[in-house]
Amino acid sequence: MYLGSVRFYKHLIYLVLLALIFLIGLGLYKLCSSITMANHDLKYALAQNAVGTEEAGKIEPIESEGMEGQVDDSMSISDILESDYSPLITYQSLYPDLYTELPLLKEREGKIAYLTFDDGPSARTLEILDILKEENVKATFFVVTENSDLELLERIQREGHTIGVHSNSHRYLQIYSSVDDFLDDFYQAYTKIYDATSVYPQIFRFPGGSINAHNLGIYQELVSEMLRRGFLYYDWNISSQDAVSKVSAGEIINNVTRNIRGQKQLVILLHDSRDKTETVKALPGIIKFLKEENYTLAPIDNSVKPIIFSYK
Ligand code: ZN
Repeated sequence: MYLGSVRFYKHLIYLVLLALIFLIGLGLYKLCSSITMANHDLKYALAQNAVGTEEAGKIEPIESEGMEGQVDDSMSISDILESDYSPLITYQSLYPDLYTELPLLKEREGKIAYLTFDDGPSARTLEILDILKEENVKATFFVVTENSDLELLERIQREGHTIGVHSNSHRYLQIYSSVDDFLDDFYQAYTKIYDATSVYPQIFRFPGGSINAHNLGIYQELVSEMLRRGFLYYDWNISSQDAVSKVSAGEIINNVTRNIRGQKQLVILLHDSRDKTETVKALPGIIKFLKEENYTLAPIDNSVKPIIFSYK
């Protein structure tokens, strides 16, 4: 009788053992293939990360059929740039040293005013610096580096003011024609400021302010690219309107004082250029008023919460 015989139980044990070996083999195969997949995904993520497609601290792989197959051991950044996906990442790979560390923004106690001077250095810079020194006040200079006396930057730096990038050329049509063109101009200003002061600037102000008629088409890309690189930009909430032609020192002071309206943080727009003699004349009056109103006057650094324009 086969069923129940010793031979039957022997065969049953063989069958169970064979089934176990098969199941273990299947398990090992699945484990190996998942490790290979994870490794593959990691390489893909690293490749993406290396060219900087991080958004909000999260790696977002480009979801597209066929891309998977292109990422393998031999995939380099230049391969990715030459692929069909290059329009997404070309400018992100430009100027790999154009990055700055972004600290946490600090809450400031009390009322604080930031005097900001655009477009310098100029024939007025020394006069402005002398007034600031006399009043023991620190300010922020958003400078233009083409055709200007960059030796003046050293004194601005030495006397405790902040130097931020405004532009190299300040030519709207050129710098706002593409993100690449903006970065190209910015990088020139950035390196020239470093060469003159041995300090890399960490903040900037867009020529014309962050929202202007020239950058409409690239505004979103431009702002996110500069923030991705760690650079904060500062617009203003008080304009002295000293760029208006034939404005007097009295009107400049009045433009500042009447628009304060109890705001706790003021970023005041002024200009440092050859023809801005009225701005220089107005400066002591502006400082006097701010001190009387109990504002602390300070230079901007990148821990200051920016005042930025926004589309309604
Ligand atoms: Zn300007």
